[in-house]
Amino acid sequence: RPALLWLRQDLRLDDNPALAAARETGAPVIPVYVLDESIDHALGGASRWWLHHSLASLTAELEKLGSKLVLRCGEAAKIIPALVEETNAAHVFWNRRYHQSWIEIDKKLKSDLGERGVNVETFNGSLLREPWELKTGSGGYYKVFTPFWKSLKQAKPARADTEAKPRKVETPKQFPKSDKLDDWRLLPSKPNWAASFEGHWTPGERGARERLLDFLSDVIDDYKQGRDRPDKDYTSRLSPHLAFGEISPLTIWQATHAKMSDGAISDSAGDKFLSELAWRDFSYNLLFHNENLPAKPLREEFADYPWRTDKKGLSSWRKGLTGYPIVDAGMRQLWQTGWMHNRVRMIVASFLIKDLLIPWQEGEEWFWDTLVDADLASNSASWQWVAGCGADAAPYFRIFNPVSQGEKFDPDGNYVREFVPALQNMPAKYIHAPWKAPQEVLDKAGVKLGKSYPEPVLDHAAARQRALDGYKTIKK
Ligand code: FAD
Repeated sequence: RPALLWLRQDLRLDDNPALAAARETGAPVIPVYVLDESIDHALGGASRWWLHHSLASLTAELEKLGSKLVLRCGEAAKIIPALVEETNAAHVFWNRRYHQSWIEIDKKLKSDLGERGVNVETFNGSLLREPWELKTGSGGYYKVFTPFWKSLKQAKPARADTEAKPRKVETPKQFPKSDKLDDWRLLPSKPNWAASFEGHWTPGERGARERLLDFLSDVIDDYKQGRDRPDKDYTSRLSPHLAFGEISPLTIWQATHAKMSDGAISDSAGDKFLSELAWRDFSYNLLFHNENLPAKPLREEFADYPWRTDKKGLSSWRKGLTGYPIVDAGMRQLWQTGWMHNRVRMIVASFLIKDLLIPWQEGEEWFWDTLVDADLASNSASWQWVAGCGADAAPYFRIFNPVSQGEKFDPDGNYVREFVPALQNMPAKYIHAPWKAPQEVLDKAGVKLGKSYPEPVLDHAAARQRALDGYKTIKK
């Protein structure tokens, strides 16, 4: 009797504990992916683009091993038991997920299948440590990152070694029938707004591995000093690969440590990178312990904040037409590539929440739909962090100034020039505040404010004061 391997956010063969366990049974393995659009936070548009390519890549990898990927669409809670019935499977294996509403689905499935005599086993395939493993001195979960990181570093990842990539996967005499990937229509067509993603990414396990190797052999030296510079390519860009589980954090952890041990990279460079990777685990720790993290502020008083409804402002933010170049460059990078540099994510989030005074949930939703690395834990924890209403959050009164942030982190203006071509010829001195440029400078650069590039939608100094006044009304 076969073993069903239910793949979800772990679209890889290498270091996949559920796959390793399925193979250990010696039974034929049936890998299956279910497109379930009924769940809370079903995939957004950019993630669907990534998923299409990731599934195509996984199918090809499985076929090299003589296996197949079975695709089914519908409610997983019904499809998995039906597949067990259809194939007479004796085992079901999966790697865990951590949003409470998803956990509920998995728990129920496990108990229903268990009652029918099916052996169900679940594993940690996507975190360095399970969210219930690291505890503070008083026994609670960590709400502050630095002690969380210290504790994780000391405890080390739960598994000492990665699982080897299989050379062969036992196959059943007959695979259950599968949907055709193209029939799922995951790729946008009319219009194909994702056309420009292609040049930026190679979804799939192999693309993830190559990105890690490139990063560790070259870029990581500049990471510590340069990771805040959106005009440079100094970060790993592993986030979408991690979001889809095309590479495990343990693989990253071990590869980084191996480079540190053989002296190829310094301990401080490796450590800085791994501490950023640990933010991902920290976010999952928050999501697991706070079921409402994606929707409600952890600091409850923020529910009473005097937010504004501002359709025009929201639309200018989404389209990158706020008149603040660093904000607009970020929002256009997001639209064109499905990704945005971390520093700029913080700047645009601060602008939406504290300048436009629009609820952070609007931003969380837009990012969910447009990011190829959309990740429920990291996205909601980060939005709450910027809003000042989360655990270990930036204080509300720390309001990013979009001009000085631009000048500091994109000093030559090259990031803005890349994504806002209308400002291509603006000198660095004025590129982050074109409205301050003398008319002759604007003329020379061919910039017509209000025509070729928008006037600022608001005055930052006044907006900042308005945000602080709003904060006073909820401060306890
Ligand atoms: P690197 O700097 O190379 O870091 C390596 C890995 O560590 C990343 O791939 C990521 O998995 C993890 N990581 C790094 N920084 C963070 C962080 N602050 N929080 C959580 N994990 C981190 N990240 C997502 O993966 N998905 C999201 O949906 C997401 N939404 C965000 C929304 C906002 C408003 C903000 C401010 C940040 C968000 N982040 C999100 C975190 C961070 O911006 C991205 O993880 C990072 O930019 C990815 O680029 P990288 O892979 O080059 O990162």
